[in-house]
This record gives sequence, structure tokens and C-alpha cells, in this order.
Amino acid sequence: MQFSEVHGQEQVKQRLIRSVRDNRVSHAQLFFGPEGTGKLPLAIAYAQYMCCEDPGADDSCGRCPSCIKYNKLAHPDLHFVFPVVNIKQGGSNTVSDHFISSWREALADNPYITENQWYMVMGAENKQGFISRNESSEVLRKLSFKSYEAPYKVLIMWLAEKMNAQAANALLKLLEEPPDKTVFLLVSEHTDLILPTILSRTQMILIPPLDEPSIRRGLLKRFPGQEEMAEDVIRRSNGNYSLAIQLMESGEMEQEHFEEFVLLMRMCYGREIVEIRQWTERIAGWGRERLKMFLAYGLRMIRENFMLNLQQKELTYLSAREEEFSVRFSPFIHRGNVFKMVEEFDRAIEHIEANGYAKLILLDLAIRNILLLKQPAPVD
Ligand SMILES: [Zn+2]
Repeated sequence: MQFSEVHGQEQVKQRLIRSVRDNRVSHAQLFFGPEGTGKLPLAIAYAQYMCCEDPGADDSCGRCPSCIKYNKLAHPDLHFVFPVVNIKQGGSNTVSDHFISSWREALADNPYITENQWYMVMGAENKQGFISRNESSEVLRKLSFKSYEAPYKVLIMWLAEKMNAQAANALLKLLEEPPDKTVFLLVSEHTDLILPTILSRTQMILIPPLDEPSIRRGLLKRFPGQEEMAEDVIRRSNGNYSLAIQLMESGEMEQEHFEEFVLLMRMCYGREIVEIRQWTERIAGWGRERLKMFLAYGLRMIRENFMLNLQQKELTYLSAREEEFSVRFSPFIHRGNVFKMVEEFDRAIEHIEANGYAKLILLDLAIRNILLLKQPAPVD
């Protein structure tokens, strides 16, 4: 990863580059600051620059043998430590290396990954990861080898606050008597949870929240053509680029759910059975979690439209597009069918959850909606 791939933070980048050019790279540095500011990508780009065989004034070359390995995060002198969940594997306790290929893939997709997203990648949604004593012995073992080819061996520890007491004490020993030509780059979002004795042995570098123009450039590169949504997201993200990406992704998904829901309702109203069958084939491919989200979205739309029908606009939460559609759709959602429709969507969610056959569940839901949408509104 090169500095050019890290959004904003120009001052920090210049400071890091200068330290390499002036040949005064401190052996232990701590990149700290809130989530989503680019601490981890900065640490990686910095390490790559340090080890580049032909560094330029602003960035590593990106082409030398060292950079090529760094681009894949697979340089023999680059070591990662990050929080993991304890799974038994091969009889030993879990260490970062067990997850190293998932880690490389996750960072290739999004180097601004959050702690929770990382736990999801590991398949440990509801567990807390930590950095254990086993990890420290592993680090000690690796760093005791001579560096293979680079001028520096680099250890990047992501979320150093996740070290337990034993791991922290082992790291402290390493920082006190650092192996030759080794640089420790610690990354932390909660320095208050790190031993003061460790903090005092590192050079601390604050990575501030990201400025709006940098977030905007990053988002429009990742989500081309989504200017309008990006502006809304930038306002809500408070300089947290990881959050901005998450908001864009959920926004894009919600847009898609809206379009599919409108399509489904139109087809049901028009009794377009052939089209409905094709639609269920396509949507069934989304997989269980995504289908549940779509159906939950459908539920919300039905409830909102019933509220609109009851002239309770102040109780609805609709985007401009949703409202435009709902003005026309809400007359069809009334007390004569709303409860049954909600029940049908709820049941579909339940069946999807129980691993039912998605195509049949969706087809069944659509057919019941054909009948329900045709019901006339009761007259008082
Ligand atoms: Zn290079």
C-alpha cells in the first residue's frame, strides 16, 4: 500500500517521509486517534516506504521487489499482529497468522476496516478478539531471525489496546531491548487501555479525523456517480472514513431494496406471474441475510404506507424517492389488508431464517400479495 492510496493526512505523510529521508526512524511508534482516520493504512504505507528500494520524494516506488511484496502485504519482513478470537487450531492457541490470508483479503478490499468488521470476517460476530501471550512468543520468535531482505523488519500491531496483560508485558520487554533493525508500529483507538510504560517507550503520532474534501474524494472513487448520497454521508460521518463507507454501502443497499420492492408491488398489482417467477429466481440468489434485510425493508414500507393512508404523515420516515412512490401506493395499503400483509412478510422472514427454499418462499409471498392488493378498502 502506497501513501497515494491513503486518503488525506498530508501533514502526517510528510512527517513520516521526512523521518525516513533523515534516517531517524524511531524504533517504536504509536499511531493513535479515533476510528476511520487511516491509522492502519498509514502505518502500512510508511513501512513500505521505509523498505522501498527506490523511494521518491512523496511515495514509495510501487515497482521494486520490496514494493511488489508489500502491495500484497506478503513481505517476509513485514509482520502483522491483530486481535483474534480463540479457536483451537492444530492444537495451539489462535494467533494472527491463522487468519493472515483473510486479513490480506479484507485489507485489499478495505484498508479502513473497523474492529467489528474484522470480527465479522473472522466469523465471530458476537465475540471479542484479543491479542494474547501466545502472540507475543510468536512475535519474539519471528523477530529473532535476521531480516530476509529489507533494511527493516516491521511489526504492525493493529489495536494494541487489545493486548492482555501478559502480552503487554512481553511487548514491553521487546520495546526495552529491541531487536536490531526492527520497527514497531502500534495502532490504537484507545490509548487509555495501554500500559503507561508501553506508551512512554513509543513515539506517539496523533492521526486526526479526516477532512471533508479527502472523504469526498475517497467516496467518489469507491462509489462513482453517487455525489448526492456522498454529501449526506460526509455530513454524518464526522471525519470517520470507515463509517462513511458503511453509510454509503447501506445507502446503496437500501436504494436497491426500494427499487426491488417497487417492482414486486407493481408486478403483484398487475398479476404478472411470469415476471414474478423470474424475479424470485433472481432475488433468491441474494442469500439468507440479504433476503431478511430486504423483507424487513418491505415490512417497513408497508407500515409507512399504512401511516400515510391514515393521514399520519408526521409519523413516517421516508426518503424523497420513497415518498414520491408512497403518495401513489399508500391508497392500496389500508386496514382491510395491512395486518395480513405484515403477517405474510413476517412469515417469509421466519421461513428464510429457518433455511427454507427461498424461491418458493418469495413466490408464495408474491401470490398472497396479489390477492391482498386487490382487496378493496373497507368503507366506514
Ligand atoms: Zn519500491
